Amino acid sequence: MDQTAVQPPRTYAVRTLGCQMNVHDSEHMAGMLEEQGLVPASPEDAAADRADVIVINTCAVRENAADRLYGNLGRLAGLKRERPGMQIAVGGCLAQKDRSTIIERAPWVDVVFGTHNLDALPVLLERARHNAQAEVEIAESLQVFPSTLPTRRESVYAGWVSISVGCNNTCTFCIVPHLRGKERDRRPGEILAEVAALVADGAIEVTLLGQNVNSYGVEFGDRQAFSKLLRAAGAIEGLERLRFTSPHPASFTDDVIEAMASTPTVMPQLHMPLQSGSDQVLRAMRRSYRSTKFLGILERVRAAMPHAAITTDIIVGFPGETDEDFEATLRVVEEARFSSAFTFQYSPRPGTPAFELEPLPKAVVQERYERLVELQERISLEENRAQVGRTVEVLVAEGEGRKDGESRRVSGRAADNRLVHLALPARLAGLGAEGGADPRLAEALDPELPRPGDLVEVEVTYGAPHHLVADSALQGRTYRVRRTRAGDAWAQRERVKAGLAQEEHSHGPTAVPGVPVPLGLPVVRTALA
Ligand code: SF4
Repeated sequence: MDQTAVQPPRTYAVRTLGCQMNVHDSEHMAGMLEEQGLVPASPEDAAADRADVIVINTCAVRENAADRLYGNLGRLAGLKRERPGMQIAVGGCLAQKDRSTIIERAPWVDVVFGTHNLDALPVLLERARHNAQAEVEIAESLQVFPSTLPTRRESVYAGWVSISVGCNNTCTFCIVPHLRGKERDRRPGEILAEVAALVADGAIEVTLLGQNVNSYGVEFGDRQAFSKLLRAAGAIEGLERLRFTSPHPASFTDDVIEAMASTPTVMPQLHMPLQSGSDQVLRAMRRSYRSTKFLGILERVRAAMPHAAITTDIIVGFPGETDEDFEATLRVVEEARFSSAFTFQYSPRPGTPAFELEPLPKAVVQERYERLVELQERISLEENRAQVGRTVEVLVAEGEGRKDGESRRVSGRAADNRLVHLALPARLAGLGAEGGADPRLAEALDPELPRPGDLVEVEVTYGAPHHLVADSALQGRTYRVRRTRAGDAWAQRERVKAGLAQEEHSHGPTAVPGVPVPLGLPVVRTALA
């Protein structure tokens, strides 16, 4: 009997712990598995760990990363005993760091692979299955630029494009240089081609990714390469929103500000990590800018883009941080007027230079952390309240925010990346995907019903610390839906998933679950301006 004809395809689930870089790497892992014929497990099966292949993409930066990984693996041990055919792979930063220790601590793991050899995942899984033994393969330097791997994009209307991997800095709290290596820059033509391919597939928003995006070009000796890249990517026809993350204050130059301000598609938004407002702590962290320079950049960004929303990362309680140092951080935060901030309590990471330093008492760190959060919450609230009355254009997202279900609002991001929950006109409230056919897929689509990927102009009516509400439609004021190619692409993907339509010819690296994945290597060529 021909068994292949009756066996359903094997399923996979990729669980991502960590940063955006990891989320994007996970898209490559999913793409490679789909190229091997695997299909994504249903959300229910993935949540219950019922996939045939489970990949955990780990992070070494977040607190308790190892505890989380081994906790996850512990839960999978029992499942694996019940289902011997199941395979477990561990990749990402913690795998790069812990290597075969993972197999020693969790011998039921089948594959361990690192950050430099994502491309090995399918081969290692196959080898582990064939040889019935664990495979550990960690490379010391980048083997294949991840962007050239197949990709299964999570979203059709927005995508990430990595411009570099690794980092040449040596921040004493950070494990990234050790695990991701020296900065490697992709060629501009390749990056632009990938952006163009994404746009051709329906995306209208692209985020350029790198550990330190504005040092882009260091490898090929062009100090203005990042601003040139912004201008060139921003000019790609069909792209409406261009973002980037994260820049480093030390190498943030004015040509980048000029490129941001003069390229209409570059969004008025900047995420720039402060880490500390104390120059002494910045020195101890080995971050080579000082607070005056940081605030000067913010001033120039705001002079060029008055509505720019600026966000940041701050670490509280770095070893040696005094009360005065912390007060300096509070002063800079007060002056910087961040629209929001990711705040972290310092915790030592093995393998980093700061690991050797004497930590501050937990109670001191906790108290400072709470004061900082309180200050930032107040500023975020004030900044968001100042948005009330403004007209904003929102790119409607799929499942963003928790407001959708309760209040019948849909959610998305404004140009400055603020989260907005917006009300539909009253006659449309209650129309959504739940129960019955999704009205957003109908042939005769109501002109006022937006789909994920469409743009809606609304007026902000309320500001909370972490989101805006725009109920202008209910008050008979601004509410304008603009249909986009991204909305069309979303609808097409949903129709294919529901079996209502056939997959259209794909131009680039976006893929629909269950259909073949094109190679991530772009084919369109665009020259840098
Ligand atoms: S700039 Fe510093 S914090 Fe950022 S990745 Fe490089 S070493 Fe880590």
